[in-house]
Amino acid sequence: MSSSDSSGSPVTVETSLVTSGRDTSAQKGFVNPPVVRGSTVLYPSAEDLHAHRGEYSYGRHGTPTTKALQQALATLEGPACAGVALAPSGVAAISTSLLAVLKTGDHVLVCDNVYRPTRLFCDGLLQRFGIETSYFDPLIGAGIEALFRPNTRAVFVEAPGSQSLEMPDIPAIAEIAHARGALVIDDNTWATPLYHRSLEQGVDISIQAATKYIGGHSDIMFGTIAANSKAWPLVDDAVRALGVCVGPDDTFLALRGLRTLAVRLAHHQQSGLEMARWLGARPEVQRVLHPALETDPGHAIWKRDFTGASGLFSIVLQPAPQRAVDALLNALQLFGMGYSWGGFESLIIPFDCASYRTATKWHPGGPALRLHIGLENTEDLKADLERGFAAFAAAQ
Ligand SMILES: *Cc1c(COP(=O)(O)O)cnc(C)c1O
Repeated sequence: MSSSDSSGSPVTVETSLVTSGRDTSAQKGFVNPPVVRGSTVLYPSAEDLHAHRGEYSYGRHGTPTTKALQQALATLEGPACAGVALAPSGVAAISTSLLAVLKTGDHVLVCDNVYRPTRLFCDGLLQRFGIETSYFDPLIGAGIEALFRPNTRAVFVEAPGSQSLEMPDIPAIAEIAHARGALVIDDNTWATPLYHRSLEQGVDISIQAATKYIGGHSDIMFGTIAANSKAWPLVDDAVRALGVCVGPDDTFLALRGLRTLAVRLAHHQQSGLEMARWLGARPEVQRVLHPALETDPGHAIWKRDFTGASGLFSIVLQPAPQRAVDALLNALQLFGMGYSWGGFESLIIPFDCASYRTATKWHPGGPALRLHIGLENTEDLKADLERGFAAFAAAQ
């Protein structure tokens, strides 16, 4: 995978993560941009004011800090990216994208495995504004054609879903969506644009909960919205109209995280796969949900459309009472119990999508746990889970 630097020579994506968005001469030699705290931008003359002349006009519309991050993100998203907007959270990036492309009377198709707050936004605020949502089976592929209505304006996918990890066929879905005049929005948080170039797979708007791997240190809330030339004017307009903007400290931390994304994600991928295989061989584990495993139903699509995997996957335990699952969780010392993922630390959380799925049924046949594999030593993580499994057995 390569892009071009300012001199036009091709550089690899790992290198561009280090070099993109840097303007050393504007920063008097310093490598990083300053954390610019700013609302007002002063114009040197009345003529400049009337003509809106100048690189910056107002804090909400951009600062040297936000511009550096946007340039770096645009390079990461690839040549199909026409612009990147910054949002104060992943959910804000999702809601802003949907509001950008939908209007009263429209219909939107949403993948049944999406992040739950995406559903809540569609079934709540969008419905209140007269926009109808229907959900589809993540494995529907080209069968999505039958669900299109004359007013279907957008399709929202998440590949893979961040709990159940089913892998939708984005190119097949996008081909039909475009033939029907609809735009495709992808929550690409799991793989990041480093391992999945959404905008090169038929997606029009590619979203990151940058809270996760872009930030990478569990210390910011952040969202990004990258769009191709067809969708960017709509996104830009919505961002301006809604007043979506981000603070300078979080912007700086997102850019700092981005610089090390390639090394972190490679490590999360490697340790994640090692732990997934180890868990798959445990008698307590019925099934591992991880599209980079050869045995996973989503593996062929993952192999075709993705260049890597992150450290997030799920397991289904053998049937067991809740007290045994709780004993497992309580015995863990390294795996933390908490929402979110994508930071340096390992996490584990039980989940059950049965109550909110509508297009598909979730009945995995045992308690489900989602794991994020952090940057700890994998032997230590295995020892931690062995402690958990011992407590699991003792509590049955
Ligand atoms: C966390 C997450 C979000 C929301 O991001 P926030 O920054 O927490 O608002 C959206 N999509 C996916 C897949 C996520 O995991």
